[in-house]
Amino acid sequence: MVDIKLLARLSNAFGIPGHEGEIAEIMAVEFHKMGYMVEMDRIGNVIAREKGVGEGALMVGAHMDEIGLMVKFINDKGFIRFIKLGGIDNRILLNQRVVIKTAKGKIYGVVGNKPPHLQKREESKEAIDNKQLFIDVGAASKKEAEKMGVAIGDPVCFDMELKALNGKLVTGKALDNRVGCYALLEAAKRLKGKNIIFVGTAQEEVSTFGKGAAIGAYNFQPGAFIALDAAIAGDHPEMGEDDGIVHLGKGPALTLVEAGGMGNVADEKLRSRIMGVAKKAKIQLQIEVVEGGATDAASVYGVRGGIPSIALGIPARYIHSNVSVCSLKDIEKTVEFLVQVGKADLG
Ligand SMILES: [Zn+2]
Repeated sequence: MVDIKLLARLSNAFGIPGHEGEIAEIMAVEFHKMGYMVEMDRIGNVIAREKGVGEGALMVGAHMDEIGLMVKFINDKGFIRFIKLGGIDNRILLNQRVVIKTAKGKIYGVVGNKPPHLQKREESKEAIDNKQLFIDVGAASKKEAEKMGVAIGDPVCFDMELKALNGKLVTGKALDNRVGCYALLEAAKRLKGKNIIFVGTAQEEVSTFGKGAAIGAYNFQPGAFIALDAAIAGDHPEMGEDDGIVHLGKGPALTLVEAGGMGNVADEKLRSRIMGVAKKAKIQLQIEVVEGGATDAASVYGVRGGIPSIALGIPARYIHSNVSVCSLKDIEKTVEFLVQVGKADLG
């Protein structure tokens, strides 16, 4: 059974790239409760392991950061312009409620937009440039916004709480990759005493590959690495037949090739060993090769002498939006599979 309360805390937590503190805190506390040795490195990765576990061990990482925005400019009337951190479709930004983390605490804002009544016909058809968009925090002037605590460089996150859909699915923001964080915690709980390094990684969304994961792998020199992430599910309208190979409810997806080979190309030996574990444990895996998108696995493979890496994804619809959808069954199956992989000692 998925602990929905914990999953909700993870999903609702604020954690855009470089500002993972809130989510890192939850991860660290949970690892502590299990009795792991927990540390945090300079980039913000949370690392949990048993004493003596290090070089050569299996490392399992789940990125903690989510896509978000950052304050770029406050105009004289108190409206805020922003930059995007991570891959965001501008169309999803319109009329969103957001949270800004200021030095004085969190404040709410909305991304404003001209109502349809006043839009010219061409305007509603045009692509949206995020430079035209702005956040309204209720300030009447720049001075007032600054008094509220808003400053250039403040991180901004979507304001959306996790909810269940039909008792089987969940929807929320940042499910890419808080479902991975959840599975990492749950697997760690069931794999106590094993030769595994569990890492909540920082700053995956702001580079083609994960920054935090590369640093974690450099420091610990694992024998193999599994990136636990969200896999793009294509089982909904407007996805092509061959876009839709990963389905919700059909179990974790093993990614053999990312970003058409520009991301991770999974190590052949590691891949066959992992597939062997699935076969033996009779756990159904979905196998995918993707043209767009990469994971932490891509950066870890290039570290030190080359660390065999592979990505395991929990299927998610509508990723990089505030309404991603995942299946509770897939989360459970992924944990189950990770436990089998952990017991197989792939380090
Ligand atoms: Zn991700």
